[in-house]
Amino acid sequence: MEDRVKIFDKSFRIYIREQEIQQGVLKCAMELNMKYANCSSPPLVISLLNGAAFFTVDLVRRLEFMTKVDFIKYSSYDGLDTTGEHKRLIGLKESIEGQDVILVDDIIDSGYTIQRVVELVKEQSPKSITVVALIYKPTTIKTDVNIDHYAIKMLDDAFIVGYGLDYNEVGRTLSDIYILD
Ligand code: 5GP
Ligand code: MG
Repeated sequence: MEDRVKIFDKSFRIYIREQEIQQGVLKCAMELNMKYANCSSPPLVISLLNGAAFFTVDLVRRLEFMTKVDFIKYSSYDGLDTTGEHKRLIGLKESIEGQDVILVDDIIDSGYTIQRVVELVKEQSPKSITVVALIYKPTTIKTDVNIDHYAIKMLDDAFIVGYGLDYNEVGRTLSDIYILD
């Protein structure tokens, strides 16, 4: 565990240590364990690649109920969809109609990304959608999208890397979270 890391041209310093991150993951898992204790069929966890993959794996291993897990991308493709958006959900393997969905993302900054993803998931008529985020920034959010559960609340408006979060695709593999110096 280093106190500073350099990625390409940028210097980062330690911000949230692994132990604190894992406490946040456990908090999220406990909230979900209460919520889904009596669910009739296994909910579908949908994790947004690449950032949320690391958080998702740690989270689902702490769940005390059975789930399905799928990893998807919210990505560009050629052409526009009917709403004029350039991005769509790629990789959903099965219909999610009538299922309880637990949508997992890495960081909610403006909230526009997760809001659009929630809209796209809703189009497929799930029974319910619960949004879970690793990092929730209440001071930068610009939408009224509901974040049901989060591991860590971040009050600083700054760029961070580690535990799934990247700078130009690097830094995701760090166990701690670092902030731009
Ligand atoms: P939003 O649409 O909420 O403004 O942005 C969400 C997405 O932007 C996240 O899923 C993440 O990919 C990226 N993002 C936002 N803030 C940060 C940050 O501080 N660090 C990194 N690495 N990515 C961020
Ligand atoms: Mg993302």
